[in-house]
Amino acid sequence: MSETPFDARAALLAERDRLLAELAEGIVAPDPMTYGSQAAAATQVFEQQRDLALRERNQHQLAAVEAALRRLDDGTFGTCARCGKPVAAARIEALPWAAYCIDCQRIVGRRG
Ligand SMILES: [Zn+2]
Repeated sequence: MSETPFDARAALLAERDRLLAELAEGIVAPDPMTYGSQAAAATQVFEQQRDLALRERNQHQLAAVEAALRRLDDGTFGTCARCGKPVAAARIEALPWAAYCIDCQRIVGRRG
């Protein structure tokens, strides 16, 4: 262990592994036997759409994690990508892939 209390790189690598594993699982192919009724078919479509949405979110998250790992390498990690001020340590511990400080995040909107 280093003297740094929070290991952002380890947290980012763990998150990347988790996302890659989830993405690798992919979308389960529909089983024709489950198309027994209209209701079952509708459920299947709903589940596929939900999987797609989850997959999109994971890919977006993966991009954010990889960008944060690049910032660790180029030394800009922990600095807000918008205003250049340091990002609060508590925020980095909660969201190591966050590119913005909390004020800028409110301005640019949405999660990240
Ligand atoms: Zn900022």
